[in-house]
Amino acid sequence: MRMALIVQKFGGSSVADAERIRNVARIITGTYWAGNDVVAVLSAQGDTTDDLIEKAAEINPHASKREMDMLLSTGEQVSCALCAMAIEALDCPVVSLTGWQAGFRTNSGYGNARIKRVKADRIRTELDKKRIVIVTGFQGINKYEDITTLGRGGSDTSAVAIAAALHADLCQIYTDVDGVYTADPRLVPNARKLDEITYDEMLELASLGAQVLHNRSVEMAKRYNVNLEVLSSFSGKPGTKVKEVVKNMEKSYISGVAKDKNIARLALVGLENSPGIAYKIFSLLAKNNVNVDIILQSIGRSDTKDISFTVAKSDMDLARKVLEENRDSIRFDRIDVSDNIAKVSIVGAGMVNNPGVAARMFEALFNAGININMISTSEIKVSVLVHIDDADRAVRVIHDRFYDELTGEQ
Ligand code: ADP
Ligand code: ASP
Ligand code: MG
Repeated sequence: MRMALIVQKFGGSSVADAERIRNVARIITGTYWAGNDVVAVLSAQGDTTDDLIEKAAEINPHASKREMDMLLSTGEQVSCALCAMAIEALDCPVVSLTGWQAGFRTNSGYGNARIKRVKADRIRTELDKKRIVIVTGFQGINKYEDITTLGRGGSDTSAVAIAAALHADLCQIYTDVDGVYTADPRLVPNARKLDEITYDEMLELASLGAQVLHNRSVEMAKRYNVNLEVLSSFSGKPGTKVKEVVKNMEKSYISGVAKDKNIARLALVGLENSPGIAYKIFSLLAKNNVNVDIILQSIGRSDTKDISFTVAKSDMDLARKVLEENRDSIRFDRIDVSDNIAKVSIVGAGMVNNPGVAARMFEALFNAGININMISTSEIKVSVLVHIDDADRAVRVIHDRFYDELTGEQ
């Protein structure tokens, strides 16, 4: 009788070369021989996706998103076929499937497609035949039967989507660190591994730049109540469980520090000080699918004011173009654009009941001589904008300042 249905996802560094693929094959077959049904979702090997993007740029820097998806989806196909071969070599029944074979239907948004549903019949049929199923992460097909990709880091979301569709008992995200830490362990050596974290805090950390999980995977895991675990494919140590409620909720009121270098700031200087101007600016940006994050409006001087806001780096040029093209309806003196900024954030569900968190964060930055450009707060996070060259140091000094709370050393 089947023990459990387990979905295991392996990231790029976990399948980077032949030896690592054999290692992954051993993890998958070990789970299978223990009596479980296993679906494994793989990313492309190592830096393959980046290399493919570079290759495309050599041919045509303005390639269509459709053809980019056709190209980028191949990386996952290579790693999946190789892993299936490694499993065959271990005399274990296995089949590899591309995203469309596995039933991934997405919307038509090439390059950043959303999963509409996973028609998992083929996967179920293969599992019934007692085969291990290997599925390409990061991709599906749209209504035109074109291949689409889910956005960078999207294989995590593929794995959670399969786990949700199959009502899997567990979804394990294998990566190159032991779990979710209080800050990027490559940046902050004394960061602590969290045994557990809530969906909400993880979603916030992932959205604020902690790349260890794709933020959409966490959103989906929460919605479908998927049992999620982040762990290392190298160490064999227990990882971090991501769930609705965690034990020790009272113990620590902050869970981590995150950094996002992938943002840009636009400042509209000398805007006419009339009602409706913010409405005009942000509805125009929304119409052009530009997502705006932090917004700051200066107190009006006589008849003008300034409005600054941040967007993803990839939207910077579009945002500027849209505003420049509409100077008839939105009058301003000039637009300053900067992409040498980063957002550093502190996250924690218990923050709302602990006054002074923001002040302590600002104090740490002040002591380190780091200037704050913008601030944004919510019940569960405080974010500051700093110069990109200060970002790594900012993460370290903030982590140090909250060390006792973050590491549980009371
Ligand atoms: P994969 O290729 O397995 O998907 P990623 O590179 O996407 O792996 O994510 C893992 C990386 O996330 C780690 O190597 C680590 O540097 C980074 N990271 C950033 N913030 C955190 C955090 N809070 N905890 C753990 N890892 C983090
Ligand atoms: N290979 C894709 C990327 O590098 C998807 C992933 O790794 O999750 O973004
Ligand atoms: Mg990843």
